[in-house]
Amino acid sequence: MESELIKIDVARLAVNGENFAGKVDGTHLDLELPMLESAGVVTYQLHAIKVGLRLLVRGKVNANVSAVCARCGVLFPLVVEDKEFEREYETLEDQIFVDLTPDVRETILLAFPAFPLCGEECKGVCPSCGRNLNKQECICRGPAPDVRWGPLDDLRIKEE
Ligand SMILES: [Zn+2]
Ligand SMILES: [Zn+2]
Repeated sequence: MESELIKIDVARLAVNGENFAGKVDGTHLDLELPMLESAGVVTYQLHAIKVGLRLLVRGKVNANVSAVCARCGVLFPLVVEDKEFEREYETLEDQIFVDLTPDVRETILLAFPAFPLCGEECKGVCPSCGRNLNKQECICRGPAPDVRWGPLDDLRIKEE
């Protein structure tokens, strides 16, 4: 991790624009959402160009985060991505850099799903006993196993 900030050096930016790529530690970005447990690495690949005093930045931003499944409550790794990050900044004549960190933070928060799922097939938890139905079958809802095995048991008894 080179830096905690995502900065563009506008004072020395090449006339034809420049690519900026790097990684920052997501824990420095204060990514706080109810279902977002913690952030890992935030990666960016951006192109910045100055047009007069305006700085145009576009590219891709993604973050490896740990999310809470909205159905079963288990933590799972999730890549949150904005492939069309695009921002425009007004700069001053003597400005040295533009800090993109707040906008990168915002775009990750916006890209984070409202209903994160550990998998499309997540079965969630049993509403009455709270068991994670991905890991074990619920026994509190009762009679299903008995109904299946009942006739077999009867058969065995008759055979004897
Ligand atoms: Zn789940
Ligand atoms: Zn149950």
